[in-house]
Amino acid sequence: MNAVASHQCSECTFVANKESIFVAREQRKKAARKPICIGKFTMPGWSGHSRFYLFKCYCDAIVVDYPHGYTSGGHIYFSCEECEASLVILDRDIYNKEGIAMPPGFFKTLWGILKLRFNLNRKIGINHN
Ligand SMILES: [Zn+2]
Ligand SMILES: [Zn+2]
Repeated sequence: MNAVASHQCSECTFVANKESIFVAREQRKKAARKPICIGKFTMPGWSGHSRFYLFKCYCDAIVVDYPHGYTSGGHIYFSCEECEASLVILDRDIYNKEGIAMPPGFFKTLWGILKLRFNLNRKIGINHN
């Protein structure tokens, strides 16, 4: 063992890795496009903790992840390991919880997340005009 002390506090749960985060089967079944917070966790080598969220990706994988920062537009995002998409977070509640200012002027959407890769593909797509 090396001497790197892991973060520990009364608010969070220590897990060895993301896969170790327990999500009850009922909770997995209820996972939707809108991410829900499943608690605060910390991992080996982290100096603090993060809120983790559960949601269903556009590829229908059930994802457990914490918000990563930042996209070029200043948004935070989740990653799906299944389809390797970065999912931009557009849910104002999450920004509020994380204490991050939400960038203005982004698309209005019913879904809290948007497939970043799809978005990028469109930007670089051939323009038929
Ligand atoms: Zn903590
Ligand atoms: Zn996915």
